[in-house]
Amino acid sequence: MTLTVLLLNACVAFTGFYIISKIYHSSLFNSQRLRSFVIGLLGGALGLFLMYNAVEANDTVRVDLRHLPLVLLAFYGARMPLFIATLVIASTRFLFGMTEQAFIAFIATFVVSVGMLWIHRLLRERLFMQSIFLNVWALFVISIAVYINMGWNTAYVSLVLTIWMVGMLVGLLSSILSIDLEKTTRRALEYKRSAERDHLTGLFNRRVWDRYTASLGEDDRTYNILALDIDHFKHVNDTYGHGNGDLVLQQFADILKMETRAHDTVARIGGEEFVILMYDLTPEKVDKVANRIRERVATETFYLNDFPPIQITTSVGVAHGTALPIKRMVDLADSALYQAKSDGRNQVVVSTVASPEPIMT
Ligand code: GH3
Ligand code: MG
Ligand code: MG
Repeated sequence: MTLTVLLLNACVAFTGFYIISKIYHSSLFNSQRLRSFVIGLLGGALGLFLMYNAVEANDTVRVDLRHLPLVLLAFYGARMPLFIATLVIASTRFLFGMTEQAFIAFIATFVVSVGMLWIHRLLRERLFMQSIFLNVWALFVISIAVYINMGWNTAYVSLVLTIWMVGMLVGLLSSILSIDLEKTTRRALEYKRSAERDHLTGLFNRRVWDRYTASLGEDDRTYNILALDIDHFKHVNDTYGHGNGDLVLQQFADILKMETRAHDTVARIGGEEFVILMYDLTPEKVDKVANRIRERVATETFYLNDFPPIQITTSVGVAHGTALPIKRMVDLADSALYQAKSDGRNQVVVSTVASPEPIMT
């Protein structure tokens, strides 16, 4: 009878895990806090269901699988949801009576969760090992809690053996489910990243740039496009080798990342051609930003393999305009860049639509 009830609970736990894991990996919620809260409550609700359908060992001791949602949340390292679920599960135990047993269960639930977070930290990358230890730790604490409540007798031994058997079986099966979901999600993220990012610099690639900018320019916003091209880069490749050229490109991209804000879009759209999209800046401000980047590149030391460090410069063409198709803005930025090159390089040229003649700075 005990075994049947626990196995039925296990089936419910599986379904709950699947739903919680799906939500955990989904982009359903924009707010991280709301997502944590919902997952925590769902974990807590699942724990409550398992608790309400507990096996009653005797008049006061109840045994169930309420720890399993906590194991799942610890496995994901989801601290906030784990805390919420732990609080829900631990405090609701008092609804079955303000007894000493309930108090012991309350403490045991928190001990289980804190220990599991520690295990998660130690074995973060070893998924299967981690899930075994999480389950073993939870069952170990539960066994002690039940021992305190029941004492050592035949009923205790039989109950604890059943809990371990079902707990390990369900715990490991559900871990396999979680590991599978976790691996699939990680792989999907890696594929997405490698499809969107330039592998050398980590910046967005041309495909993402084209897709992202295709829909822009129809509103009334002011856009600034910066087109950057390293000066005499062929010379770098010819003198220090292609590998060192790549190192320079990486350091150059790092400067662009550092000198822009999170909502600017920075992309490598060609060999040593980079573009940056910035919103809502005045021509004076964007000129200042472009010159800041140009100066930073000119003063930075670029480290190479097998050669002393070098210095490089970059030319920057800027297009400033409102409600213009981005494609046209990129063409304007390219023309400004061309002018910066022919004016002697290491320069910024800003082209505004109001004054189509580029202004030299
Ligand atoms: P300019 O001042 O006129 O820009 O002169 P430049 O020598 O930089 O000329 P250009 O911009 O046309 O040179 C681009 C060079 O960039 C040519 C190509 O060998 C090199 N390049 C393109 N992609 C890569 C890459 O991924 N790695 C390396 N190391 N070099 C690249
Ligand atoms: Mg160049
Ligand atoms: Mg070039």
